[in-house]
Amino acid sequence: MRTVITGGAGFIGSHLCERFLAEGHEVLCVDNLLTGTRRNIEHLADHPGFRFIEHNISESIELEGPVENILHFASPASPVDYLAHPIPTLKVGSLGTHNALGLAKAKDARFLLASTSEVYGDPEVHPQREDYWGHVNPIGPRGCYDEAKRFAEAITMAYHRYHGVKTRIVRIFNTYGPRMRLNDGRVLPNFMRQALRGESITVYGEGQQTRSFCYVDDLVEGIFRLLHADFSEPVNLGNPSEITVLQLAQEIIALVEGTKSQIIYEDLPQDDPRRRKPDITRARELLGWEPKVDRSEGLKRSLEYFQGAV
Ligand code: UDP
Repeated sequence: MRTVITGGAGFIGSHLCERFLAEGHEVLCVDNLLTGTRRNIEHLADHPGFRFIEHNISESIELEGPVENILHFASPASPVDYLAHPIPTLKVGSLGTHNALGLAKAKDARFLLASTSEVYGDPEVHPQREDYWGHVNPIGPRGCYDEAKRFAEAITMAYHRYHGVKTRIVRIFNTYGPRMRLNDGRVLPNFMRQALRGESITVYGEGQQTRSFCYVDDLVEGIFRLLHADFSEPVNLGNPSEITVLQLAQEIIALVEGTKSQIIYEDLPQDDPRRRKPDITRARELLGWEPKVDRSEGLKRSLEYFQGAV
């Protein structure tokens, strides 16, 4: 089995590389290192089944030999990152997905798209089910990511319907764990870094907006199962345990022993979704999947990593 993972040097991508190697696959990790890093994959470099290809998937790609699976995970995924790189974000969701699908078609490979809960925008339906079409501002600051991923879903379905490519779409909700970039701007690495350094914990708005955080190992298990299921419509993967951002700040302060950090309040970014929680009925029924690592355990495991990273 040869499996191509675009964005393989990123946070989730690097965990996927590990998992597919452990399953005995040969893994071709394609990444342009815009937000990914060699550090995430250096422990895999000597593995005989692993190959790193530094390449921007928004440019065309040719690979020799057979390929059985393509997992398209390349994209900036943190709001701070995609605001800093709006055009590469739009390109990798559109041109990058087109190129990855073209490769899947040429190789007759299975294709799995990393989509996102952001396709639901600031949702008017709660919790979010896959049949909800979303509430997205196309011209707002998050539009570059949300619309790129919505286009990516559309072209994936077109390749499935028109070309018969075996496609899968996972809508990934907030995920956390080791190898998140300390400065990627997302709430969990921010709060961990701030608590470990004794800096102020920056809660945006009043902290009453909610998210639901899934530990990366649970997500990877769900993705592995989805790839092997015969199902081409989107599937939500996430942990339905919902908390406010303020609660998360308090949990992290309580976890980091002896921290002197205090909560401060900053402006809420434009179009910040007020509530987010996956309905995972489809994943439960289709894949027999549900998250196993609860937040207290996941935060502990993540803290060990962040302690080493600060
Ligand atoms: N957030 C916050 N403080 C931070 C970073 C983020 O309060 O230092 C909030 C942000 O406004 C959002 C939530 O945490 O409501 C999650 O933000 P994140 O950037 O992690 O990702 P999102 O879920 O919005 O894509």
